[in-house]
Amino acid sequence: MFRTSGLHHLTAIASDPQRNVDFYAGILGLRLVKQTVNFDDPDTYHLYYGDGTGRPGSILTFFPWPTARRGRVGAGQVAETQLAIPTGALAFWIQRLTAHQIAFAGPLRRFEHEAVLTFTDHDGMPLALVATDAAGTLPGWAGDGVPEVMSIRGLHAVTLWVQRRAETAQVLTGTLGFRELATQGDIVRHAVADAVPGTMVDIRELPAGLGGTGGAGTVHHVAFRAADDDFEFGIRAQVSAAGLSITGQIDRTYFRSMYFREPGHVLFELATDGPGFTVDEADAALGTTLQLPPQHEHLRDSLIERLVPLRRPDRMPATSEMLS
Ligand code: ZN
Repeated sequence: MFRTSGLHHLTAIASDPQRNVDFYAGILGLRLVKQTVNFDDPDTYHLYYGDGTGRPGSILTFFPWPTARRGRVGAGQVAETQLAIPTGALAFWIQRLTAHQIAFAGPLRRFEHEAVLTFTDHDGMPLALVATDAAGTLPGWAGDGVPEVMSIRGLHAVTLWVQRRAETAQVLTGTLGFRELATQGDIVRHAVADAVPGTMVDIRELPAGLGGTGGAGTVHHVAFRAADDDFEFGIRAQVSAAGLSITGQIDRTYFRSMYFREPGHVLFELATDGPGFTVDEADAALGTTLQLPPQHEHLRDSLIERLVPLRRPDRMPATSEMLS
């Protein structure tokens, strides 16, 4: 069986692009690793955030439409995006959210060893910071006012809300290589590999749950890692064999993708680990200028005129830079 190695990225809908940058790079301290456009709608931004390199599993992306109406989180969606932090960073984040007047709940205890803070972004997107010892071994990024040691280490897990858990679980285990790991209340956790941050999917069954509607503050899709093309086509065959229809491979410049809708209506994507975000700009310059795929390069001048230029938060100097 071809197995995914875990979560690759998650893409959500947002309203104002500058507020999106101010929240995810400014307050959460993630690195803005790419400013590009929505390849299917090039008049709008596609913003990518991640750790220092935008490694697969650390990536959150947004389609910000300034006039987007707020969506409704409900069944058939990723209902909570869980981000990993090290245990020792919990107090830092309680202080930081408080300082930025972001209302949160917690710390809540989940799955025995996790301490969790839940809150929403300015568009109402449900987020959680999940503190574990395992997160401390993953790379981070010294963002705006967030020292690297305290930084978010990418995705921890996603929580899917579906009306029938068994059908969605069958897709995770039967086509992607997940296994059932643990249950807490009405949430069943699935994992691949060693169940480290970035390899887990939680499913909450809401039999009479109202379906979600897309819009600002809702997740558009979740992508799973395929190590390379062989894995991606291998998983594709498993998805097809399960009777689900899946697209062909689409070049997204930074990875190559395929899309399918699982029976609970959540849109899943397969995305290759490579080539990554340094394919069109140097590591030191990631996220600093608008990058366009070849098919939209001829639109550059008119897009730059139409897209509101983004103000990036300053990176907090590392200790060594401050001393020199
Ligand atoms: Zn995607």
